[in-house]
Amino acid sequence: MSHVLHRSLLQDYPVAVKGDGVYIIDADNKRYLDACGGAAVSCLGHSDPDVIQAIQQQVSQLAYAHSSFFTTEPMEALAEFLAKRAPGHLNSVYFVSGGSEAVEAALKLARQYYVEKGEPQRKHIIARRQSYHGNTLGALATGGNLWRRQQFEPLLINIHHLSPCYAYREKLEHESDDAFVTRLVDELEDKILELGADQVMAFIAEPVVGATLGAVPAVGRYFEKMKAVCEKYGVLLIADEVMCGMGRTGALFASAQENLVPDLLCIAKGLGAGYQPIGATLVSDDIINTLKSGSGFFQHGHTYIGHATACAAALAVQHKIEDAQLLSNVEAMGTQLQQALLHQFKDHPHIGDIRGKGLFRGLELVKDRETKAPFDSGLKLHAKIKKAAMNQGLMCYPMGGTINGRDGDHILLAPPFIFNEEHIDELVTKLSVAI
Ligand code: PMP
Repeated sequence: MSHVLHRSLLQDYPVAVKGDGVYIIDADNKRYLDACGGAAVSCLGHSDPDVIQAIQQQVSQLAYAHSSFFTTEPMEALAEFLAKRAPGHLNSVYFVSGGSEAVEAALKLARQYYVEKGEPQRKHIIARRQSYHGNTLGALATGGNLWRRQQFEPLLINIHHLSPCYAYREKLEHESDDAFVTRLVDELEDKILELGADQVMAFIAEPVVGATLGAVPAVGRYFEKMKAVCEKYGVLLIADEVMCGMGRTGALFASAQENLVPDLLCIAKGLGAGYQPIGATLVSDDIINTLKSGSGFFQHGHTYIGHATACAAALAVQHKIEDAQLLSNVEAMGTQLQQALLHQFKDHPHIGDIRGKGLFRGLELVKDRETKAPFDSGLKLHAKIKKAAMNQGLMCYPMGGTINGRDGDHILLAPPFIFNEEHIDELVTKLSVAI
């Protein structure tokens, strides 16, 4: 007997057969409200007729042309669309097939940039604890997610993890936001000096932390200040917007909301909204000019770079989001979702924090609200909530257990940008039953 190799080798999954707006329908005709876009992917909902048409049109014209032979119209148009809207001078776009590949490309671009600039000693990467940047070996090594890393050690050794900007748990009791940010910025500067002022290649972080913490935005001017320290020591800043980017937080680029101009910016998930697998690394003019006047070559590559159909789908998705002004809906519905969550759960004895930005929201589960003590990881509370929600016909994204190298569970919500008030009511009602 043959089987699809799923992540869980022991679990049975319902068979998804059809998408309908914010719903997925299974083979038994059960409807699931998609309140997480899978993993923050399906930002335009399912079966959008305009995207389907764009894909059909592109497939019938030219499905794929290898990027070492040709460029294509959708690839060029999508690059232009992104570069025009990205912060700063992120004018070059390297297309890949997903988030991990986007991070790998960013890390290798950073490395090659310094080698060709004549500073090959810059080998260290600074990331943050409890972070996730993908599952390929380089991206996995970069992340600070102990549970995922452990059994694959040894990974890359030149990676160092600092404190995340996670106010709910990392900010001290009487510490102001400013003092908290200053402490984190000092930690970065100390680490750079400890490694050697000219030894560090890059700092990587998610502007709003998704899967590992559950929609945790930065505090105050954290990113502006971290970037200033990076600039002082010539460290490149890589923004991982694979999950929080492409409108999820109410702006096309989450970095822009933080007044952050990164040197490299990774996107995926919402870029193609699940209609086709696609990701991209946006690259600064400075990096590109260095490579151009050096080897003239980026020493990297994948077979499906700039896949024509994937680019056409992503372009249709992004035009639709812009033309229908869906980012204003993200802001408006994001605020309503936060209010509805607060209304329903603010006095819940086991919900310690409700946070996020736009349609990217997280609820942190605690055993005790006073002490913020998490539930024991052995309970696998997140898995139970996911199952209970699926029974209710609700897709949400609970994570936890020992995933962050400590106990703790949270629920991530990342519904499609076409969510309305009735969907919010349905979400909160079903989530409440599930919890
Ligand atoms: N970075 C972040 C912040 C992510 O959330 C993810 C996926 N959850 C990735 C990278 C990896 O993306 P992919 O699964 O498409 O490889």
